[in-house]
Amino acid sequence: MRVVLLGPPGAGKGSVAQLLRDRLGVLHIASGDLLREAVKANTPLGIEAGRAMARGELVPDALVTAMIRDRVVQAGHGRGFVLDGFPRTAAQAVALDEALAAAQAPVDRAVYFKTSPAMIVKRLAGRRVCAACGQNYHATNRPPRRDGVCDRCGGALAPRADDQPETIARRLAVDEAQTAPVLAHYERRGLLHTMDGDQSVEAVFDQMVAAFRRQGWLQQGTEP
Ligand code: AMP
Repeated sequence: MRVVLLGPPGAGKGSVAQLLRDRLGVLHIASGDLLREAVKANTPLGIEAGRAMARGELVPDALVTAMIRDRVVQAGHGRGFVLDGFPRTAAQAVALDEALAAAQAPVDRAVYFKTSPAMIVKRLAGRRVCAACGQNYHATNRPPRRDGVCDRCGGALAPRADDQPETIARRLAVDEAQTAPVLAHYERRGLLHTMDGDQSVEAVFDQMVAAFRRQGWLQQGTEP
């Protein structure tokens, strides 16, 4: 399956993508995670991207597209991918189409997590992320087995640096402005599937897998 997940910060894209990775063995490619790694490693990309990220702004299209293109093309030939956080602009969506068309491995589906503002605020306020492996948790909805410790790798959990009220407000405003053209892009191509992002992560995952199975997008070896 070659799927892109669309929706505002806090819509549950990352958490659902992590379930798709763990249960279907699909490669999870998260632009935000890759950028945070670059920031941590202090690479030239990280230095440039870090400024925009700290303000809640988007990193320039050319940088993000260059970072993601080869990974996606490679995964498109294998068991597939779930793209989380990319594309975020119409230009990124076009660049992704072009790269995948050349590889003859186009996107099967774009899934939009339509999510209410109240739910977004609740999810972001409670979000905790493993500093070592990036696994997502929620303080009340999906707590770890041991307080503050990642179930997966034992890393320390913390809120994300950009999950602060002022940065969240900026990220949501940016997202609102950019989302419509990206949705329109996939709608025009007949690939858009909208889901209720206010539901639990497990419910969204189950419905998504059921829909993919009906459509025959789960390739052999990726059945849950
Ligand atoms: P996320 O983890 O998806 O919430 O992304 C965190 C931050 O990384 C965003 O607020 C942006 O600054 C940056 N970012 C992630 N993905 C993209 C993208 N596709 N285009 C531009 N900026 C991005």
